[in-house]
Order: sequence, then structure tokens, then C-alpha cells
Amino acid sequence: MALVVQKYGGTSVANIERISNVARRVAKTYDQGNDVIVILSAMAGVTDSLIALAHQAVEEPDKREMDVLLATGEQTTAALLAMMLRAKGYQAQSMLGHQADVVTDSAYGNARIIEIGAKPLRKLIDRHTIVVVAGFQGYDIKGNITTLGRGGSDTSAVAIAAAVKADVCEIYTDVDGIYTADPNICPKARKLKSISYDEMLNMASLGAKVLQIRSVGFAKKYDIPVHVRSSFSEEEGTMVVNEDSGMEQLLVSAVSHDKNQARITITKVPDQPGIAAKIFSPISEEGIVVDMIIQNTRQGGKTDMTFTVPKVDFKRTMQITQKVAGEIGAEEVMGDTDIAMVSAIGVGMKNHSGVASVMFNTLARENINILMISTSEIRISCVIEEKYTELAVRVLHTAFGLDDEETQV
Ligand code: ADP
Ligand code: ASP
Ligand code: MG
Repeated sequence: MALVVQKYGGTSVANIERISNVARRVAKTYDQGNDVIVILSAMAGVTDSLIALAHQAVEEPDKREMDVLLATGEQTTAALLAMMLRAKGYQAQSMLGHQADVVTDSAYGNARIIEIGAKPLRKLIDRHTIVVVAGFQGYDIKGNITTLGRGGSDTSAVAIAAAVKADVCEIYTDVDGIYTADPNICPKARKLKSISYDEMLNMASLGAKVLQIRSVGFAKKYDIPVHVRSSFSEEEGTMVVNEDSGMEQLLVSAVSHDKNQARITITKVPDQPGIAAKIFSPISEEGIVVDMIIQNTRQGGKTDMTFTVPKVDFKRTMQITQKVAGEIGAEEVMGDTDIAMVSAIGVGMKNHSGVASVMFNTLARENINILMISTSEIRISCVIEEKYTELAVRVLHTAFGLDDEETQV
């Protein structure tokens, strides 16, 4: 008998028929003699609709109240699944984040899990009750409801799996595993049998939303095997595990894209010591994460700075930057949300040159202009116009020899 944690994402619970499919799968796992904890997302599109609704109500929704609102999406699916399981004759019970003792910090909208008191979950599991936990939510020490950031149900699932010492954490989604690129935009992407935590951390940090990055961090820290698979088939998916997979031998092992970044440029900044701190400190004080930064020196002691932030933080960052620009005597602040970042990832590129030139030449051949470049030992990222994302991913996937030649397209 095993203790299995299963997480079902938004498309897997998009309507009653699909929730009923989830109930069937959960029941089957239970009937095979396992204890089951299920973590659910909101129905596909519901979190987006709730965000839109809040913005119809007020221009800048209060962050605490926003989390109270967003948490209802997961509350709905958890209750529906629990009642369906009970109607089938199973002992099942739903739990909200605070009932499952998911304790977080108070960063509304992007809270981090501090700890999960496993007791309430354990108590039910010991009675062989199927527990259905609302994902994406927790509570802070003052008792306020918090949410864990977009895609946060993955993190709920892995953290709960760690807290109860589950044998496996299964992530059921709308693709049948982790691929060398997003299979929805790159038909020749190859499915991986397994991938190491570190490789997956890289991919997630560069936009592969199949797993929220924090969930991979938890899995690595607590050594939880994560099985990413489809809720619509019985096929084996991809194991995210500790040991290195064969992928590491490759120069480039995956191509990722991220459409969730925005670009801000501040022109004619006085080129003096301390100026970067003046620009970026107020942004980071708001909890906004700046990714790429490029500085171009002009003549006459002036410089232009360009940087990227998550799209959700774009408006706020523009406001802050405009204020700072006035204070430091910069000329203008420009913003652009129609951008995307494409990245070639590979631990193998550490000791090789030439990856960058393949990337630049490949994009140039397609007439795709590179707006920003950033490199590290194991990745090269280019910011391009958003409309070229799909094309860029496909041509780079081919250029780096990653295509699955058996795929018919
Ligand atoms: P869920 O709602 O189940 O959490 P998500 O939409 O958050 O599902 O994540 C699954 C999606 O991740 C897929 O539909 C796919 O478009 C995307 N994705 C991005 N990169 C990859 C990749 N390398 N392998 C598999 N899926 C990927
Ligand atoms: N419902 C949340 C979202 O859409 C959390 C999740 O699905 O993981 O981001
Ligand atoms: Mg997700």
C-alpha cells in the first residue's frame, strides 16, 4: 500500500464531466489499495475570470481581498470532487488550505509555503479517507488567506507530498509529460522519460510552465519523485527525479519560451555611481523581480537602461520607474509588453563555445530581430518580438538537433 498524492490542473477539472473523470481515476487508485490525497486547481479559466472581475470592481484591487477571491476557484473544485466521490460511496472529504494547515508568509498573490502541519491530513489518511485539498492557497500566521502565485497548485501538491512523506507525487495535466520544448507550439518536441530536478528547475525558470518552479524546488529539497502525466490517458509520463538523465550529455537539451515578461527602457540616465541602486531598489522593495538588465552608454555622461519584469508587474513597475526617472533627471520611460524570451538550455554548453552563434544565426535566418541577450553557463536567452515566439522555438529546436524525426508534421 502506498500513499499517493495526485494533483489535477485546470484543464483536467474544466467541467463536471472532467471532474467526474478525475473522480474515476482517484477511485481506481484507491481501489488498488492506496491512500490518496488529491490536490486540485480551479477550473480552467476561472482564476483569470476572477482576476478580471476584481479589476471590473476596482482599478487596483486590495491584495488581501484578491486572495480571498482567488481562493474560491479551488474551493469550488475541491467541494465538487469530494461530493462526487462520496456519491460513489467513498469516504472523502475536502479541505481548504488553512484546514490542511498550509502555513505561508504574507506575500499576498505570491506567498511562499513556510510549513505544512501534516497532522490534519494524517488524521484523515489514517482512517483511509480520500482527502481533497484545494490547491494554490494557504494562510499566514495571522489567519489571512493567501495564494501561492500562478501555477501554485503544483507547489501545494509537492509540499503536501513532502509533509506527509508520500511515496509519489503525480501531476496530472493536459500534456502527457515533459518535452524538449512546449509540445503545444513545437510539434517535433521529444517527450522525456525522466529529467533531473536541476534540469527542470532551469526549464521552469525560463518559462516552461508545466511545473511551477517552486514545486521543483520542494521536490529537490525533500527528494520527492514527481510524475508528470496526462489526466486523459493511461500512458506513463515523465519522472522528475534526483539522478541525472542522459539529457545532460547534450549541448542543448531543451528550448523554452516565456511570454510573461515585459520590457522597460529608461533613457538618458545620468551615468553616475549609485544610479542603478536608485532605479532598482524601489522596484525590488515592491517584491518585483527584475530579470535581464542591459545598460548602453551614450555620449555625454548619459546611459540608457533596459530591463525586464513579469507582465503582471508591468503597470506598477512603469509607475515606479516614471517616478524615479523624474527624481534622477532621466529623459523618458518606455514600456513594451509584446515581447517574449526564448532560451536554449543545456548543462553541456558549459564547456563548449558556438552555441550562441548557432542561436543568433538561426534567428537571423528567419529575420527575427534580437532585442536583448542574456547568458549564463547553462543557458542563452534572447528577447524577441512576441509574434515570433512559436517560429523561434521551432527553428531553434531543429537547429540544436532536438527534433523527434519520427514525428509526422
Ligand atoms: P495545468 O493547468 O495542468 O497546471 P499548465 O497549463 O499549467 O497545466 O501546464 C501545462 C502546459 O505546460 C502544457 O499545456 C504546455 O503547453 C506547457 N509547457 C511548456 N513547456 C513545456 C514542456 N517543456 N513540456 C511540456 N509542457 C510544457
Ligand atoms: N488556479 C491557479 C492558476 O490558475 C493555480 C493553479 O492552477 O495551479 O494559476
Ligand atoms: Mg499549472
